[in-house]
Amino acid sequence: MQSVGVIGAGQMGAGIAQVSAQAGYHVLLTDVSKDRADAGKLGIAKALERLVSKEKIDGAARDQALARIEPIEGVQGMSSCGLVIEAATEREEIKRTIFAEVGKVLGHQAVLASNTSSIPITRLAQSSPDPKRFIGVHFFNPVPVMGLIEIIRGLATSDDTVKLIETYAKALGKQVVRANDAPGFIVNRVLMPMLNEACFALGEGVATIRDIDLACQLGLNHPMGPLTLADFIGLDTCLEITRVLFEGTGDPKFRPAPVLVKYVEAGWFGRKTGRGFYDYSGDEPVPTR
Ligand code: NAD
Repeated sequence: MQSVGVIGAGQMGAGIAQVSAQAGYHVLLTDVSKDRADAGKLGIAKALERLVSKEKIDGAARDQALARIEPIEGVQGMSSCGLVIEAATEREEIKRTIFAEVGKVLGHQAVLASNTSSIPITRLAQSSPDPKRFIGVHFFNPVPVMGLIEIIRGLATSDDTVKLIETYAKALGKQVVRANDAPGFIVNRVLMPMLNEACFALGEGVATIRDIDLACQLGLNHPMGPLTLADFIGLDTCLEITRVLFEGTGDPKFRPAPVLVKYVEAGWFGRKTGRGFYDYSGDEPVPTR
């Protein structure tokens, strides 16, 4: 397999494109428009530049990786890819529409993977051209830094499909864990209730944003507080995952916190929109309440 298609050039898609290119794959990157795909590549160029200034890679490696990333319009150009990874917005109807489009061009041996954080793979596979060649490949944010990929097989996923992903993950230098196709898989099943509970605590006036974060950071020895992490992941993504957990299990312990819903309704999605629980317009993030 030489070419990888990446659909969605946001924080995850750009990261997946970057590490794939650094591992030597030719990458076709698309988004809702060519401009968005170009913007994704621009972000990757900046990320690679930071690696050069930290002396983690040299200028030649940066240039080679960038040259392997080709922003394109639509998914038609992906017919030659051995693997296509969907990393678009965490909404089932968006992903289903994408799979239908990809289905028209995907090669007969090619694998289609979703980076979904929580939507059941067996269900998503129903919109894919061939459920045997459909799989969940869950990267973590930021992709170039985080060493893990969760692999989730749907009911119909073939052994060959799993093998192809394991080979790809190895080429990227990532560790793999296999999760069953249950809501939230492993990491989000454990993480999201904590982030959601921090939102409940904030809404109920238990403490301020700063103190909730500092308490968990120092009291639990976590590298960052839960509200900082939620901002980093994207509050829209956190809400969608929490809803999938709630609907997928029917368990009220997963109901989304009203504060999380409100922030998303306000368009305050966290770092990526410049405001979430923190305001990111200055040099340092400032708690908003
Ligand atoms: P993001 O909002 O940064 O990026 C999503 C991108 O998808 C946007 O650029 C958007 O324009 C694009 N998009 C929307 N509809 C599209 C379409 N029809 N065709 C092509 N592109 C389309 O979100 P993100 O954080 O990169 O998340 C993307 C996926 O990765 C989601 O499924 C999310 O659950 C998953 N994920 C996120 C994280 C995280 O920490 N943010 C971690 C693991 C997995």
